[in-house]
Amino acid sequence: MPAINFAVIGYGGMGSYHVQTIMAKEKLQINVVGTYDISEERQEVSKQQGYKVYQSLEEVLTDDSIEAVLIATPNDSHKELAIRALCAGKHVVCEKPVTMTVAELDEVLVVAKETGNVFMVHQNRRWDPDFLIAKELYKKGQIGDIFQIESRVQGANGIPGDWRHEKSHGGGMLLDWGVHLLDQLLFLVDSPIKNVSADLSFILGDEVDDGFISYITFENGLKALIEVGTTNYIKLPRWYIKGTEGTAVIHDWDLIGEMVVESDKKNIQAPKPIQAGVGLTKTMAPPSEEATDKLALPLAPVEPNSFYQNFYQVVREKAEPIVKNEEVRAVMILIEEIFKKHKK
Ligand code: NAD
Repeated sequence: MPAINFAVIGYGGMGSYHVQTIMAKEKLQINVVGTYDISEERQEVSKQQGYKVYQSLEEVLTDDSIEAVLIATPNDSHKELAIRALCAGKHVVCEKPVTMTVAELDEVLVVAKETGNVFMVHQNRRWDPDFLIAKELYKKGQIGDIFQIESRVQGANGIPGDWRHEKSHGGGMLLDWGVHLLDQLLFLVDSPIKNVSADLSFILGDEVDDGFISYITFENGLKALIEVGTTNYIKLPRWYIKGTEGTAVIHDWDLIGEMVVESDKKNIQAPKPIQAGVGLTKTMAPPSEEATDKLALPLAPVEPNSFYQNFYQVVREKAEPIVKNEEVRAVMILIEEIFKKHKK
């Protein structure tokens, strides 16, 4: 099967990361030919790296040797670029979030369907090792049936860059990191959403949110707390997961964490009171040591990022996409709901 000739539209931070990822996979049959970026500086970088530098979008889209494009520009420009590329007969990989609303996303998906070209969204964090551990815990039941998931990312550096501060460019943290955490959650939990509440944060005084907390309840009873913060000098754990037989914590992307599980239910001793502040408590005493085990987290299954390999197979072999457009749409519906539920 021949390689796919590929062009990058938007050669900034993420555009370059895609190219590095593609180049690092020796067996991948994707050939990065060139880039198109409106910034002269980025054009120069691309030229120095030996790629063809396209001078206009039209030049990319009329280049018959190019079969597929990546769109890695600011969020507000994805829709138009994607529709133009699909209409020009190109397959498209698009960065997240594709659009800012479900209605706009639907416009893109209609064109993808009509043209028959592949449209796939880069939800790369489905391959994050911390997420794969959370998935393992959820599916294999090492801490019993999971009834509460807390998934957070927190930093203290504010909203990064330039366009991410502006509403017109689709800035804000819900549309940035929120998309990833919500995509992971919906990929994990196979149950319809029952209820959503949310609070967006505007601590930094930007016109867009600098973080948010959302509580999501599913029909199967599972409750999730999703939080993104950019004003957190001390972080809470990346994952805190409660099951009917134990609790697991994954502190960060370095995968340090642990599980405490019930080992011998019959042997559970009544807790002894402990001094807590200026009082005594049995309720908050540590769990009985005889009846619990502190265990290492399960190993993340080896699942290297196969996004582009899958993209190749979808284009060449009509394989099933790992990131399905209906899943992307479900995340967008949830994002709209979170914006709606925010109480001003
Ligand atoms: P960036 O600002 O670093 O890069 C964007 C580039 O697009 C810039 O070089 C800019 O000059 C160029 N550009 C702007 N408008 C253009 C246009 N109309 N045509 C061609 N080029 C144009 O931004 P970034 O951090 O690389 O983010 C780009 C996209 O990638 C965003 O949608 C963002 O959400 C996404 N992203 C995804 C991940 C991920 O993990 N999946 C991580 C970071 C960013």
